[in-house]
Amino acid sequence: MTGRANDAYRPAVRIVVLGAGFGGLELTTTLADTFGADVDVVLIDQNDAFVFGFSKLDVMFGRTVPDAVRHPYGDLVKAGTTFVQSTVRAIDPVAKRVETDDGPFEADVLVVALGADLDPSATPGLVEAGNEFYTVAGAFGLRDVLAGFPGGHVIVAVRSAPFKCPPAPSETALLMDTHLRERGIRDGSEISLVMPMGAPIPPSPDASQALLAAFAARGIGWYPDSTVQRLDGARRVAVLHDGRELPYDLFLGVPQHVAPAVVEDAGLTVDGWIPVDPLTLETKYPDVYAIGDVTSVGTPKAGVFAEGQAAVVAERLVARIRGETSPTQYDGRGICYLEFGRDEVAKVEVTFLSGEAPRGALEGPSLALAADKREFGSSRIERWFGR
Ligand SMILES: Cc1cc2nc3c(=O)[nH]c(=O)nc-3n(C[C@H](O)[C@H](O)[C@H](O)COP(=O)(O)OP(=O)(O)OC[C@H]3O[C@@H](n4cnc5c(N)ncnc54)[C@H](O)[C@@H]3O)c2cc1C
Repeated sequence: MTGRANDAYRPAVRIVVLGAGFGGLELTTTLADTFGADVDVVLIDQNDAFVFGFSKLDVMFGRTVPDAVRHPYGDLVKAGTTFVQSTVRAIDPVAKRVETDDGPFEADVLVVALGADLDPSATPGLVEAGNEFYTVAGAFGLRDVLAGFPGGHVIVAVRSAPFKCPPAPSETALLMDTHLRERGIRDGSEISLVMPMGAPIPPSPDASQALLAAFAARGIGWYPDSTVQRLDGARRVAVLHDGRELPYDLFLGVPQHVAPAVVEDAGLTVDGWIPVDPLTLETKYPDVYAIGDVTSVGTPKAGVFAEGQAAVVAERLVARIRGETSPTQYDGRGICYLEFGRDEVAKVEVTFLSGEAPRGALEGPSLALAADKREFGSSRIERWFGR
């Protein structure tokens, strides 16, 4: 809990933000930076700490420890913002009222930033005979599994699109190559990457080509336009959509992504995700916005895009509170970092504009860009958590 304005100055607009991930943190930070105590924001999240998506890979491959990448929400000190750790159980987008385990909250403006959930059960056998590395629990649990892995056939497989951070499965295959080499067990091992798309990162042909060249150079098997339908745990084989079978000793899956059930139940979704105006992030309900992975705005599901969308909503809310209107529109731009293994990182800047083919150019990979990526993470933590 944080400080609040004297009641005499209580702001007229109460903003309730659901989800303290990339989008929710960026939005509340901008509002707090602009208005200080003269804003009335409630930020609700079920978790007690924020963890970057890329930190999951760092922990899993033993490059850092879990405690170093958890950023507790208890450290949030923002005048005018109240953080509530609770689970959102129901959303009424007409009344702009939400039910949580800690009671109801009513809003003048509601922002849904609840991200994407995972459905491992959509891949039969995954829970019983495989692993997923997209949740904090899954990735952190794999740290010991990888440290003790004696070598063998590793499969990295994506169940379906859309999925968070399109480069992450390719990064995982390359980091696995480095990990096995460093442990001296690469020769007796195989790595296969199974993805539902024809290229590793379709919006950036440059990045895709660089990744395909790295896969070829390091002997990583590439299975495009393919999905794993099920795992046969007894035979330790992954069965692909066309009946092909790949044997595995370690299966690392990206499960099917779904909108959180509370968002579905609220009737906010169409074809699985929340439709929004791609320029303003407004839903069809007045004063209800949605940002980030929970939307079908047309950008990939990645933190940088959630952040860019949050910035637009923040500007619109700042203008509204000041009794003005904001001309700011979302430009669909974002920078993604790509781990290439061997401590090298590349950078791709991609722009997604409504009605136009996405475009993106690649820089690197290089050791210098690894430092760039570290700065990307630490600058966010400093801004969001004030450290
Ligand atoms: C392995 C991996 C690597 C990644 N690497 C990168 C990268 O390098 N760069 C990048 O930009 N992105 C990366 N991402 C993607 C990035 O993590 C997400 O796209 C980003 O976090 C989305 O932001 P968001 O605000 O939409 O949702 P999230 O950050 O997922 O936040 C949603 C929040 O809502 C909360 N929530 C959900 N349901 C409820 C509920 N019912 N009640 C209360 N709270 C709830 C959750 O606890 C969560 O904190 C990576 C992801 C993974 C898995």
